Amino acid sequence: MTALRWGSATDVGRVRQNNEDNLVVASPLFAVADGMGGHAAGEVASQIAVNRLEAAFAEHATIDGLVDAVRAANRAVYDQGRDQPDHRGMGTTLTAAALVEVDGDEQLAVVNVGDSRGYLLRDGELSQITEDHSLVEEMVRSGQLSAEEAQVHPRRNVVTRVLGIEPDVDVDVFPVVPFRGDRILLASDGLFNEVTDAQIASTLRRLADADEAARELVKLARDHGGNDNITVIVIDVVDDDDRAIAASSALAGEPRAARTTTKRPLLGQGDSATGGATAAAEPTPSIAIGPTRSRITGRAVLFTLAVVLVLAGAVVAIGVYARASYYVGPRGAVVAIYKGRPGGLLWFEPTLHERTSLPIADVPPVNRADVAAGKEEASLAAARTYVANLQSAAAKLRDAGAAAPAPVPVPVPPPTAP
Ligand code: MG
Repeated sequence: MTALRWGSATDVGRVRQNNEDNLVVASPLFAVADGMGGHAAGEVASQIAVNRLEAAFAEHATIDGLVDAVRAANRAVYDQGRDQPDHRGMGTTLTAAALVEVDGDEQLAVVNVGDSRGYLLRDGELSQITEDHSLVEEMVRSGQLSAEEAQVHPRRNVVTRVLGIEPDVDVDVFPVVPFRGDRILLASDGLFNEVTDAQIASTLRRLADADEAARELVKLARDHGGNDNITVIVIDVVDDDDRAIAASSALAGEPRAARTTTKRPLLGQGDSATGGATAAAEPTPSIAIGPTRSRITGRAVLFTLAVVLVLAGAVVAIGVYARASYYVGPRGAVVAIYKGRPGGLLWFEPTLHERTSLPIADVPPVNRADVAAGKEEASLAAARTYVANLQSAAAKLRDAGAAAPAPVPVPVPPPTAP
């Protein structure tokens, strides 16, 4: 079992009258929602969203289950906004993290709609997991603004995607393989609009206790202006089922039984959210696997639907077969997951399902031919696992390269006197 500890804090800030943020702290599910809308509708929207998310998320859920729970939350906010005149047009961001099962293993899936954020602190380095659905971030991504300009842009609060505006919503998904010592941060923009990433990182490195870290981040945001509501959740991976040790052992070629000598007692899940004694994380074997970025959209579904409607009978059967599987193959300079079969079947071409962050150049030599030809997998989850394994192997190779001993100088016999 992957075991977590967590802490959280929320504050109205120093300017607003109401706290329109809401949060879920219900391990293994965590979420931050930042509501918007007049007449206190923002509060209503974020409250409905977190309630529905929590109700819809089943324990041991899959990534798809988590995405469905977010879509159910969207629908609940949308329905309320449609039916209640006071709540018309209300919406909310939603950034959630949950432990989910992927082919018998566990992943921390981070999902996002809007401009609240998920971050990962790993080996002391902070990286943003999610991408903001905001006007300024889209301008940064298209090169029209610098990150520094975005930070102070007058329209930085304009979001381009939120829950509650349309009956359905696209949900971004970022699976993270959890390793002991990892720290996930979920936050509303009241934090990172006031506090720099460097300040966030140093606070997360300094305070080992998750609850203390969460409270300190909220205090920092207040001290820097507190212009908005501030909500922070800090989630620590305190046991990873020896995933990191197993990976190191495999790298070193040790027998798998060696794990038992290093296995530590499993820490209980559900330690106090109000500050149990969280031991400082022990050094984790250095395995730098970045989160795989992916996006589940309705477009692939609509496309498939259109194909099915146009073609009939036997064509449907062929189509179903042709599209039933996924494969991992190259897309430009990175590895991607395609839906369909390599090279297509009859007139059914494979479609790009998601790009990953793994560069083709980092694919281990032993797997390169497979990836180049298109490595078929029976399901999306299996394809993602294959990519996760490639990333893991690539990281091991990198680490092994870095740790390779320097060549031993060969002693040269002294020149003999003529
Ligand atoms: Mg806000």
